[in-house]
Amino acid sequence: MSKYKFFIALVSVVTLLAVALYVKDQMIPDLLKDSRNEQVHSLRFDTQEAKAVVFYPKNVETEFVNSMAQYIRSDLKASHFSSENLKVDFRQFETGDTLFLCFDVVDESGKLLRTYSGICHLETHEVLQLDDLVQDSFYDFLSSEFRTAIKSSGILGDAAYTTEFYEKTNAEKMREVSFYLEDDTAYLYLETKIAGSDELLCAELKLSRLAPYFEEDELFYQAPRLVNPVSHYVDPERPMVALTFDDGPVRNNTLLALQLLNEYDAKGTFFMLGFRMERNPDVVLEVLNEGHEVASHTYNHPYLTKKSTNLTYQYSRNQEILSEITEGQAEIRLLRPPYGSFDKKVKETSPYPLIMWSLDTLDWKTLDAQATHDSIMANVQDGDIILLHDLHESSVESLKTVVPALIDAGYQLVTVSELMEARGIEMKSGVSYSKARKQTDASE
Ligand SMILES: [Zn+2]
Repeated sequence: MSKYKFFIALVSVVTLLAVALYVKDQMIPDLLKDSRNEQVHSLRFDTQEAKAVVFYPKNVETEFVNSMAQYIRSDLKASHFSSENLKVDFRQFETGDTLFLCFDVVDESGKLLRTYSGICHLETHEVLQLDDLVQDSFYDFLSSEFRTAIKSSGILGDAAYTTEFYEKTNAEKMREVSFYLEDDTAYLYLETKIAGSDELLCAELKLSRLAPYFEEDELFYQAPRLVNPVSHYVDPERPMVALTFDDGPVRNNTLLALQLLNEYDAKGTFFMLGFRMERNPDVVLEVLNEGHEVASHTYNHPYLTKKSTNLTYQYSRNQEILSEITEGQAEIRLLRPPYGSFDKKVKETSPYPLIMWSLDTLDWKTLDAQATHDSIMANVQDGDIILLHDLHESSVESLKTVVPALIDAGYQLVTVSELMEARGIEMKSGVSYSKARKQTDASE
């Protein structure tokens, strides 16, 4: 950690754009060039402790440069660097009609003390903020990556599994994150107190993780068009349960469920109906990209035990739809038979493990968020698979209290596949599973 302390204090989230540009730089070398072209001017200013020479580009709107210089001057003054002579040199990148300007503060020995950055529109000379350039869901991505890095580093221990940790690292808080860039890595810093510690939280993020979030020739952040799931860390030693959602995707409900789950780094398994996947391909993609599991609940919800049901079609159609949505990048690995109904024939023919449940919330019957909450919290055990329906608004509403309550009770919220993997259970086609307790065989 201390190694990076010199690199902290990047001005604002504006610096994040540097990450984007750096990625593009690696991917499309022609797109970004240092546009310095020897057009360098310098200005000097003295702070109480240090004299600084600031180099800045000549071809850039002076108002923009002046406002940045002014900010740097007041910030350096407030920082009381012991060094006598500071050099502030710039890096300049242009892409499309946007200019990215980055000032590095270096002391006499060449040590980098700070980086400041800003963005402006080349034609209108308008100063831009990161928020002007990216979609909100980008912060969800950052939040997941940040949490994964902190958890896997172990630096926070138990404190990384609390509602406090999740509330202080949610998407909204990612707007305050600072960055330092080095080679192929971005170091993300968040100044926050968790469990009473004053530690500055630092997470490393490989820049290549960001690449799919930036379309070619498109500076503005878009949700990835194809599959690029966020990372999710699961500690196999800690208690965990799998929330499962049947009968969707239903646009508003499913998207709200994603938002409520993401708030607390919770991942769920969505047993989808094929005909609803066809209507909401973008929702399916978002479920995947936010780290949740897409599984099958058949194409149109028949009894698989009925003679008239075309089993082959009900098994295979959802995968065809998913392949179309993701250009072949995602696979269905689990099946939940409608009505939980299966027989010997289904067991013999199913290409997927049959996923049942150990905690039935009866949410479809009560249609009441509080009743759903109560049925979960009164019965939950480590290793449970919990049955919910994102078809019903009340079921999704219940997540507002269920998710933090489960976290407070010590549970990690994981997908069915994550649960089985953590418990060392290798699922087999046609075998039914309803839970994954520690050190027990979950097959029935
Ligand atoms: Zn169903």
